Order: sequence, then structure tokens, then C-alpha cells
Amino acid sequence: MHWVKLIFTGLLIGLWPAIGAAQVQSVGIAGDGEFTRITIVSEAPIEPDIFLRETVDGRVIEMVPAQFEITADAFFSQPTGGIYAYTLDTDRIVFELELPMMIMREIALPPSGSEPLYRYILDLSGVSATRFNNAAQRDERRFTRFEAARNTAAKPLPDPIEATPVEVADADTQTQPEAPTAKPASIGALMQMAARQRRVIVIDPGHGGRDPGALAIVGGKESDIVLKTSLKLKQMIEADPRYVVKLTRETDVYVEHEDRVTMARNWGADLFISVHADAAGAPTVKGASVYTISTRGEARIEGTAKRFGWEMPIEDGTSIEVSDILQDLTLRETKSNSAIFAEYLVPELGKAGPLVRNSHRQGNLFVLLAPDVPAVLVEIGFLTNRDDARRLKSERGRRKSAEAIKRAIDVYFDRQDLILATN
Ligand SMILES: [Zn+2]
Repeated sequence: MHWVKLIFTGLLIGLWPAIGAAQVQSVGIAGDGEFTRITIVSEAPIEPDIFLRETVDGRVIEMVPAQFEITADAFFSQPTGGIYAYTLDTDRIVFELELPMMIMREIALPPSGSEPLYRYILDLSGVSATRFNNAAQRDERRFTRFEAARNTAAKPLPDPIEATPVEVADADTQTQPEAPTAKPASIGALMQMAARQRRVIVIDPGHGGRDPGALAIVGGKESDIVLKTSLKLKQMIEADPRYVVKLTRETDVYVEHEDRVTMARNWGADLFISVHADAAGAPTVKGASVYTISTRGEARIEGTAKRFGWEMPIEDGTSIEVSDILQDLTLRETKSNSAIFAEYLVPELGKAGPLVRNSHRQGNLFVLLAPDVPAVLVEIGFLTNRDDARRLKSERGRRKSAEAIKRAIDVYFDRQDLILATN
């Protein structure tokens, strides 16, 4: 049973004079529970506080806008994609979840060009019940403080007049906001990864099984060396409560490139690190390097994402202009985060061993093609070089490389937390 509950307390326009309140024009939901997008269109920014909670109604996402009201002809889409109902209350919207989901991205788009309204977008991704529960436990403390602060600041409100839950009428009987006619000139959007949850790091040991990768001059193969390094790294990340770590393979098996990316997306990866070791014709070439997606590689993202279903869901009725903006924003955010991580990773790798010249390089590499997961490919050294090969065959050498990656992960997410804290 999918429904929307509306609880009005004089929030309808005309009943309660609103000064500067963000009038909500529509609430849209699209997706499948693995990836689900909530879009709220309003006349002013809603700037909500968001909490994951376990309540008597089960798992919910509680969204408390700074101030909002609902316009008389607002459009509400049917709940779908892991959300079985949502309630528009006097001062908040509560999304009841069918499946455990967490926030992976928060986007606030101001009006721009022919788009006269504000859009607030929450991208959710399916997670394990344990992960949700951990996040909800943490959020509960924040929620209690938030409510306490709000209550002391609250002005007296009129008594609520509760309306009966209403079935949402078919979409075709509703009026949707007018479609824009031209592409906006500029965006100036705010976009951020949602914090307050454990970051998911996906480590991708390259090659495996029938594909050994490069062969080491001192004996041994890339697939084995990168797997051992990745398992060491996994151990280090696991010991840190801020993260959840997943490996695309933990044994000597071959995994298709597209499956590695699909896995990362399905796990709601915040960062994807593919671990490889290099080979060169000249045995003197040595050192580590980091790749992010090249401009040429970028041109493949859209088509590849379509082919393998790596796109974010877009609700029906979203204009091509808005979905283009969102897609563009997501790509830019992903690209910039990948580059930022690469810039942190290079100097750390330099502490673990030599670096190749121009060590942050750009490649057209398939595993880096997810449109919405920051990704790098790290080459921890050259197996065709005797020093590098010896270093990487030793447990100590691999541990140093793993420690370098872990330090870069810490610096990267510390920076993200800082950005969120100052926003
Ligand atoms: Zn490789």
C-alpha cells in the first residue's frame, strides 16, 4: 500500500500568512530502492536538517526544512523505490522506508535560466540493516539535541487540525510545474556528499584468475601482489570505525570490469580504489602512480552508464534540462573528488616508495567509468623493475603501500567533513 499522508495545520496558503516560507510545489520520488532519488521543488530553498531514524513506524528519513509550507496545488508523486509512504507534517516530511537506505548525496539547485524554482534532491542508496541501524543510532542523539534546540526557540503554533490520509490521485490529473523551454546559462549549485554515516570504501584488486596481470621480474604475478596489498589495506580500514570496506574480489578469481563497477555502485561506494602494479619495457622505470579518468575516458561515461544501468534514477516529469544539469553536476563532482583523492594519494605513496615522474596521470580506464563514484586506479610500482618488484613482494613493502592509501583515505574524508561542517 503506497500512500501519502498530509497533515495540515493551517499550512495551506491563505490560512496562515507565511513570511518567506519555502512553498513546496512538488515532492517527487523515483528509483528502485537500490538507488532512489527524492526531489522537492519549492519557491525558496528549504535547507532541511535530515535524520535517519528507527521509530514506531520502522525506519524513516525525517526531513525538517528550516521553514516550509505546501502550496494548494502541490504535486505529490507516488511513493516508490523503497519508500512505501511519506507524511507531510506541519514542519517536516517523514519518509517511511521499506528497505534500509542511506543518503549518498544532497543537492540544492537554485533557480537558473528558465528554471524558476529551487530543487532539493536527496539521493539514497540501499544499505545493510546493520549499517542503517548504526547511522540511526548516531542520528538519534543529534535528533534529540536538534528537537530540544528547536522547542526552546519555537513560537506558539496553532492547534493541529489533522486531515485524513489521502490517496494520491493519478499523476495525469495533477498539474506539474511548467516545463522549462531553454537550457539555463549557469548553475551555481551547492552539492555535497552527505556526512553522518560510515563511508564505504571499495578496494578493487586488479586482474585475478585467468588474468594474472604483469609478471614480476623476481617471480610472482600482479594479480597476487595486488590482492595481498588489498587484503592488508582492508584489514587497516576495517580497524577504523569511520569506514565500511568491501573488496571486489578476495580470492584468485577473475571478475569482469563492469561487475567491479556495478558492485561498487550497489554497495553505495563513497570511494573506489583499483589496485594494480605496472610493467614497462625498460627495467629502470620504477615508482608508483595514480590514475583518474581522462577526458577521452569521460566521453565514454554516459554511454557506458546507460549500457550497464549505472545511472541515477530520474523521476517522471523531470525536464531534460534539469536532468542534464544533475547529470553534469554529478559527473563534475565525481571527477573533482577523484582528482582531489589522487592529489592526496600521490605524496602518501611517495612515503612508501619511489614515484614515477608526473605520478598523477589520467587514463581511459574502464573501472573508472562510474558516473557517480569517485575513483582512482593506483599502480603501486613496476614489477619489471627489480627494486620495486622486491619491495612489493615483501610483506613490509606491501604494508607500507597499504598504509599510504589508508592515510590518503583519512585525509580525503577529513576534508569532506570539514567542508560539511563549515557549510
Ligand atoms: Zn594491472
